[in-house]
Amino acid sequence: MECHVCGKPASKEIILEGARVWVCGDCAKYGRVVSAPKKIIVKSDALPRQEIVLVQDFGKIVRNAREKTGFERKELAEKIFVREHELAKIEAGELAPEEKVARKLEHALGIKLFETVEAGKGKPEKKKAGGLTLGDVVELKKE
Ligand SMILES: [Zn+2]
Repeated sequence: MECHVCGKPASKEIILEGARVWVCGDCAKYGRVVSAPKKIIVKSDALPRQEIVLVQDFGKIVRNAREKTGFERKELAEKIFVREHELAKIEAGELAPEEKVARKLEHALGIKLFETVEAGKGKPEKKKAGGLTLGDVVELKKE
């Protein structure tokens, strides 16, 4: 394609006197460029980032499901290859199971122990606007 103005190889499309014409770089100044090459920027964080987290009351869920299925704690522990006291701690909510253990529990008991949350929202904060109240301080001391 040749420049509409001077005949050199055209590289840009401009609006010149109301018409779209192709011109070279030098002649582009006579009009308004309409088709400058656009870079498409794909932001990697365009989608909300999600992460998979263990549900907060995993212990209760495991315990309830185990009791419903009729497994003894020892039986279940053997089935998923963990020590009985470890399973007891998991059921008490004192120990967060490793992912592979949690997956086995899910499979053995037919439960869901993971949930998908938006990144950064997995651990709800206790902070309130306006700083700590007396109630919060007492709560912190108990923990
Ligand atoms: Zn030209």
